[in-house]
Amino acid sequence: MIKKLLLQMLPPEPASREAVEIIRADRLKREDRKELHSYYWGPNRHQCGYVWDTVTYFGYDVQAVIEAEVCDHLLRLSIYSRYALHRGDLQPEVVVYIDKRKKRWRNYFPQTGKWTEAMIDRVSDVKTDRVTNRYRFVMYDNIACTGTQKAIGYLESDIEMEPKDTAYDAVLRWQRWIREERNERKKEVQVDKWNKAMELIPPIPDDFEDWCFRYGMRRHNFLLRQIIPKYDQRRIWIGKYRYICTYCGTEWESNDPGVHNAECECPFCDTKLVLKYWGRQKVLRREEYTGIIQRYGDGFVLRRFYVLTTRRKETDYVPVKAILETRRMIMDKYFNPLACYEHDDRQNSVAPCWNPKLVTDGYRYPPTPRIKCFEYAVMYTANIREVMSGENKWMAKLGEKDSLFQPGEGEEVYPVETLKRMKIYSFLEYVERAGLIKLARQIFNYGKTEELNTSAGRMTDLLNVNGNSIARMKRGNIGYYGLNALRYAEQHDEKLGDEALKLIDDKEINIQPLQLDRTGLTLQKAVLYINKMAMRSRRTFGQMNTRYRDYLELAQERGMDLHDDIVRRSSKVDELHDRWSEEKQKAKDAKREKDVDRKYKRIAQDLSINKEHFHYEAKGFCIVVPEKASDLVREGRILHHCVGASDRYMKKMTERESFILFLRREHQQESPYYTLECTWEGKILQAYSEYDRKPDYEAIGPWLQRFTRAIQKKIAKENTQKLMQAAV
Ligand SMILES: [Zn+2]
Repeated sequence: MIKKLLLQMLPPEPASREAVEIIRADRLKREDRKELHSYYWGPNRHQCGYVWDTVTYFGYDVQAVIEAEVCDHLLRLSIYSRYALHRGDLQPEVVVYIDKRKKRWRNYFPQTGKWTEAMIDRVSDVKTDRVTNRYRFVMYDNIACTGTQKAIGYLESDIEMEPKDTAYDAVLRWQRWIREERNERKKEVQVDKWNKAMELIPPIPDDFEDWCFRYGMRRHNFLLRQIIPKYDQRRIWIGKYRYICTYCGTEWESNDPGVHNAECECPFCDTKLVLKYWGRQKVLRREEYTGIIQRYGDGFVLRRFYVLTTRRKETDYVPVKAILETRRMIMDKYFNPLACYEHDDRQNSVAPCWNPKLVTDGYRYPPTPRIKCFEYAVMYTANIREVMSGENKWMAKLGEKDSLFQPGEGEEVYPVETLKRMKIYSFLEYVERAGLIKLARQIFNYGKTEELNTSAGRMTDLLNVNGNSIARMKRGNIGYYGLNALRYAEQHDEKLGDEALKLIDDKEINIQPLQLDRTGLTLQKAVLYINKMAMRSRRTFGQMNTRYRDYLELAQERGMDLHDDIVRRSSKVDELHDRWSEEKQKAKDAKREKDVDRKYKRIAQDLSINKEHFHYEAKGFCIVVPEKASDLVREGRILHHCVGASDRYMKKMTERESFILFLRREHQQESPYYTLECTWEGKILQAYSEYDRKPDYEAIGPWLQRFTRAIQKKIAKENTQKLMQAAV
């Protein structure tokens, strides 16, 4: 509708005499041929690509003429290509309509009747032959314009123009201005919503930045070594070294030259440092993430800061500091993340800009977007007591030294996880206060709560052991495994010595695999016994226990009494285990051989026919035909391949589908070498040696070919004999 109106008000007009004159006056100056290698864009990615073409550049000053016309509130730019005008075609290539009041424009292509909304510097792209660029007439420096004053006069009220501007420049300038304004407005609408969420965030404490560069960056400090040169009269070095700790700033002198990049500790402040020779490294740059937790409405907000210090040799390694807030995670009162905002550092963005971030979880199917993690940070803890005032006292302890909120040596703290776990395992407060530090850490780190009665109010109910045991745990710093052992001992009314308890806790021994029900041993006796055996055979406790379990199994199969001390605490577990399992295997093998022989009798029955048919000896090798089915099983066992493992090949041989033959060396016919599968006609289907390998196959391959030929010859001979007999 509007388009029609535009065409009515300012219809496309043929080029004026002036435009034609411009083209006519513009003479050919030069003609260049160039190899052009350019990328062209298509409507989809399959139609994009590179093109090599010889392009002729005609040395004209003017490639196109633009004529401007104003009517009412509209501006019309008609663009005539020089090629069209040259041909005598006066119709415009494109007509650009501009509506200043509505801040809009449309491009009309009279030849095709199409409408587009491209900007004037891109308008020709629609029309030009993209492959050769032959009609790219809109170029920045060779467009002649008539009616420039009209166009500038029309657009001048919106933006300022440069004195040199042509109509083309003016329109481009105006269109860019409109576009920028539009983008800015679009962005503001989005940003407003998010910025409102950000307004609730309280200001950071005054000392926070200083804290970041000092305590936050504590893991990234250096011990700088300067040389103080000095020689005695005989020119012998008696110089010293000056050391400076970048954390506490203490300087001291020493004779020790130290090692560049060595890790060390400051003797004054105990900070972990990296030794650097003064001047050896030009730039020392270190970065760290720090975090702070604050109240946010009902819940909390975790803020993450990127902290960077750069020390340069030129400035005597005085740190240049930079800090940037990069992430804000908003959580509800149970520390479940609600949203994660990332700092947006796009160009041209308005003030500080925060974008909500979702990431797609690739490990799940279907891939689901989830809120981006807060990840690791060194936490600011001075405000914890205040922030956690509504929470339990244990949470407030996060601020204390050596708390779960501060990374130890090389440790990283994931604040969201820590907070969540502290909330879930709030009973840990009592565990820790009772002095069971190891247990508390194990529950916190590995979630070991299966055996605990977490809803209980008292310590003895929570851990399900009596006060005496708790006292023992506290004394020996016993953790989760020791706790289970103590509980077991209490329930079964057994004694558990300190040695066994310590052993169970240190080696993280579970009670169930110890087979106490079977042997009737006490926990203490079983643990000490298995540990002794493990030490003797140089195995780990777990390995030894597995063997012990197998041993008990075998002993039971042999009808032994597991409650007898000679069996259950035998000093020859290893030896007996090996001997018995070997015997068991042998019995199993013998049984299989017997079974197979009974099942596949035909192999034995066909022996004489097969033996005669496949008989072949040459060049140190010979063919041995298996006498019965069990031969296949034995061969397979010795060569560790699959021929005897299943019934497959025996079945095939019984049905005379294919035959298993043994290739042996002539002088050691008893020992297996190669196993062959072949047809009655002598065709080799498979040939394998030990572990399905093929040793010396360069020699064996040709030998097998000769074998095949020999069998074929034999069959042919037999056939002729049969025919002869039939004829007779
Ligand atoms: Zn220091």
